[in-house]
Amino acid sequence: MPGAGALPDLDIAQLSPAARQAAERCVRTGQWSQWSESASRLGWCSHPVRLRGSSTAVDIRTGAVETFSSSQAHDGVVRVPCGNRRADKCPACSRIYARDTFELIRTGLLGGKQVPKAVANNPLVFATMTAPSFGHVHGLRGEGRCRPRSDAEACSHGRLRGCHASHPEGDRLLGSPLCWECYDWTSAVVWQWHAPELWRRATIALRRVLAAHLGMTSAGLRKVATVQYAKVAEFQARGLVHFHALIRLDGPDGPGSPSPIDGRMLAILVEKAVRSVRVEAPPVDGDDVLRVLRFGNQFDAKVVRAGRSGDMLDDAQSSDELHAGQVAGYLAKYATKSTSGDAVPSPHHQRMERECWALSKRAYAFAEDSPYVLLGKWARMLGFRGHFSTKSRAYSVTLGRLRAARRRFARLKAEAVRAGEPLDVADLEAYLLSDEETTLVVASSWEFVGSGWGSQGDKELAEAAAARAREYAQLRSERHREQRFKKGTGDG
Ligand SMILES: [Zn+2]
Ligand SMILES: [Zn+2]
Ligand SMILES: [Zn+2]
Repeated sequence: MPGAGALPDLDIAQLSPAARQAAERCVRTGQWSQWSESASRLGWCSHPVRLRGSSTAVDIRTGAVETFSSSQAHDGVVRVPCGNRRADKCPACSRIYARDTFELIRTGLLGGKQVPKAVANNPLVFATMTAPSFGHVHGLRGEGRCRPRSDAEACSHGRLRGCHASHPEGDRLLGSPLCWECYDWTSAVVWQWHAPELWRRATIALRRVLAAHLGMTSAGLRKVATVQYAKVAEFQARGLVHFHALIRLDGPDGPGSPSPIDGRMLAILVEKAVRSVRVEAPPVDGDDVLRVLRFGNQFDAKVVRAGRSGDMLDDAQSSDELHAGQVAGYLAKYATKSTSGDAVPSPHHQRMERECWALSKRAYAFAEDSPYVLLGKWARMLGFRGHFSTKSRAYSVTLGRLRAARRRFARLKAEAVRAGEPLDVADLEAYLLSDEETTLVVASSWEFVGSGWGSQGDKELAEAAAARAREYAQLRSERHREQRFKKGTGDG
């Protein structure tokens, strides 16, 4: 990636008209380098946030006071990256989020970043929990047809129950019901609304099932094992979330201590727990019914690691075994997805949004304090109010700590540049990930002024530069790999 201040060599002719105008304006007014320097400092964020205020840091050992205020900036505001996790909102920030999520998941798999390396010996299961069916929808079925059925079969609305098309990837029909009248939109939204609770109960059920298997009470379980997980929610084409969870079983002494059971048994117990979970969803109003909600039948649990020394999986089973890096990669990618990749939501997603609003209004008319009233607030998320990536406390390092480490690194690097000294990399990682230093007392007050670049052109220019910077990074890592490969074969 080019250093701070350097704008990647953009081909101006290839930019959108708005971005080209912004670039030409910068060149004309002689602000090219100033613009690119600030855009690069913001990591080429698409919607930087503008803040006004100040921070004061006091070093209690030396008494030195350092003040940083937006009044020092030329236009009286400071800009910070938006930090959005969604790739369709901010490609640059979502990549940092994905990288942090990847690191967080990977360290829980293999250790490192202050997580004991011995976690690499603990059993791991990768489980996918789906939503049940609320009616037939168009789907990808490998190379085959969507839903081959006899053309004589029709629903009570006169619509065929089959679809002979074979839909290409990205087809907006994917996930859309075959018959919108037959499809149970209300139950779909109510399920989505309660999905976080289903997950929470699944984690409790797993501890209970484990304890029963080991012949103890749930309270006694921690004397022999602890369950750790990282979980992400992913929107499917039909607008409902799936949960993907990486579940690790540690021994009683925390991460890396030996587990009492292996990965295969863990997978069986996870499945048993997930299938036992149910939530009773109260009716939305007097005309509605009580629903018993569960996860879908299409549950899947793969053994990522059997996790017992001297107990290797045999060949038949190891083909099912997933590669650790692969799993971390999947999860990081899922976590940056939105409801759909499209700028304009598919018609069936819009239909779900309308269902959220309609249920919210019905609930309000029925009882003002009904929890369903809030469905309107979450309509854009199609009723999903949960987090997109969560982890149990001791699974691995936290996102917050990774972010703090990055800020600390930026500060150290700036200090080294200012002092004209090389960066001391001995024990750097341990220092970066250590608890926040307690010698600094910081008082700050910031107010939100606005967000986004001044114009659409500036935004598109930043995005074009971000894309170019990513290409550079990719090219560089490919060259690096090539060189390493050449070196490897040359030595051999
Ligand atoms: Zn951003
Ligand atoms: Zn179809
Ligand atoms: Zn129908």
